[in-house]
Amino acid sequence: MLDEDEYDKASELYKEGFRNIKAKTSREERFKTLLDYYEKITGFKETEPAAIMHHRISQYGPPCEVCGKPYRTPQASFCAACGNKH
Ligand SMILES: [Zn+2]
Repeated sequence: MLDEDEYDKASELYKEGFRNIKAKTSREERFKTLLDYYEKITGFKETEPAAIMHHRISQYGPPCEVCGKPYRTPQASFCAACGNKH
C-alpha cells in the first residue's frame, strides 16, 4: 500500500502512462515506470496499472466530492480536509 506522497507520485506516473499512449504500443511499456515504482515500494509485482489506483481507493475510500481529497477510510462519515459530510 502507498502513503499520501507515494500515491501522488504513482498517480502522476499513471497519468504519464496515458500521455504516452501514442508513443508506445504496449500497455506494460507505457505504465512500466508506474509498475516499477510500485514494485520498488511494495515489493509486489503488479501488472495492472488501474489496480494500483484501485488499491488506494479500497484503502482510503473515494475522494471527497467537495474538495477531492480522499476520505481517510471507506467508512468515514465526513471529510477530514474540508468537513464535508458524506
Ligand atoms: Zn472534502
